[in-house]
Amino acid sequence: MGKTGAEVVKGRLAALVGPTQIQIQEYPLPDVEKGAVLTKVLRSNLCGSELHIWHWTHPLIKNAVLGHEMIAQIEVLGEGVENDYAGTPVKKGDRVVAPYYLTCQKCGPCSRGDFHMCLNAYRWWSQPPDKYPHFTGTFATHYYIQPGQYFYRVPDELPSSIVAGANCGLSQVLFGLEKAALTSGEHLVIMGAGGLGLYATAVGKDKGAIVTVVDAIASRLTVAKSFGADHTVDLQAFSGEALTKKILEITGGAGADVVLEVAGVSAAFTQGIQLVRTCGRLISIGNVSIDKKFEVPLAPGWITRKSVNIIGVVRYNPWYLLKSLKFLQRTFRNVDYEQLTDATFSLDQVQEALEKSEKRIVTRAVIVPNP
Ligand SMILES: [Zn+2]
Ligand SMILES: [Zn+2]
Repeated sequence: MGKTGAEVVKGRLAALVGPTQIQIQEYPLPDVEKGAVLTKVLRSNLCGSELHIWHWTHPLIKNAVLGHEMIAQIEVLGEGVENDYAGTPVKKGDRVVAPYYLTCQKCGPCSRGDFHMCLNAYRWWSQPPDKYPHFTGTFATHYYIQPGQYFYRVPDELPSSIVAGANCGLSQVLFGLEKAALTSGEHLVIMGAGGLGLYATAVGKDKGAIVTVVDAIASRLTVAKSFGADHTVDLQAFSGEALTKKILEITGGAGADVVLEVAGVSAAFTQGIQLVRTCGRLISIGNVSIDKKFEVPLAPGWITRKSVNIIGVVRYNPWYLLKSLKFLQRTFRNVDYEQLTDATFSLDQVQEALEKSEKRIVTRAVIVPNP
């Protein structure tokens, strides 16, 4: 079928054109190449990392199409795409999710099986808006899934409203907790009751662990309870040595089998070493900054003497997104995941959504780019 200029269909996207400057721009929808998928974005969550990018403090992403947490609907399947990456048949109109980064399968980390550390992860992630195929971020009417980029069909029973966070926070904590081999009956202490901490609470319970959540905000601890936390500890009442004592009390004097740091506070890491038992595992996810100002004093002897296993985790191996969907299917009737998001914005309101998120007027904003 021939195509004339008059038939060019355009989509819209939120372009970051300078520090904290968003512009809604229009581009023709790309021709879909072999192995690729063009999707229509249903919902995209505003993740904390988006705020860094917005301020131009991300080391690699500057002029960019914003957005990475998403659920989308298949619009056009490229030649040869008949199934998702789990072998499930797909067709136009199906809802899908995709990890927001690429795994080239050829670089050093990929060839060692560490797909989450792919050296080419950023190749198609939030690119400059004028760079073809334009739709490389999810604060947009459309999102282009590249050839070789994993994607999965979303089971029909899952509501779109709870799926958009699966390709970021949920998959990451699931990956981290499985790397730490958390098993049934073990004590898991989660430091931080933000989105990651709440997902981790539900994952920990699903794995049969005894879950304790630590945070300084009482209302978050209440939500953590509703996500299944067995114990919550308010940092306002217990900090430093008092917190260590409290965790020892909860864990029968041994300390936590696994500590998950998702607070994004450097001191939470050093405190975590005090909370974990000897030969226990400490997962570091929340602390991502490497500037001097994030350094904290630590006698490495603590790690040696307690024989602590430190597990650092960035992103996740892409098939964990499939595990996340299965996890949601298993648990969404018992856990109210809707609580993770609290405000909805249109594509034209992306700037407002970013401002309100930064001022903490909104905890987790959702962008619904298509009316
Ligand atoms: Zn995210
Ligand atoms: Zn790679």
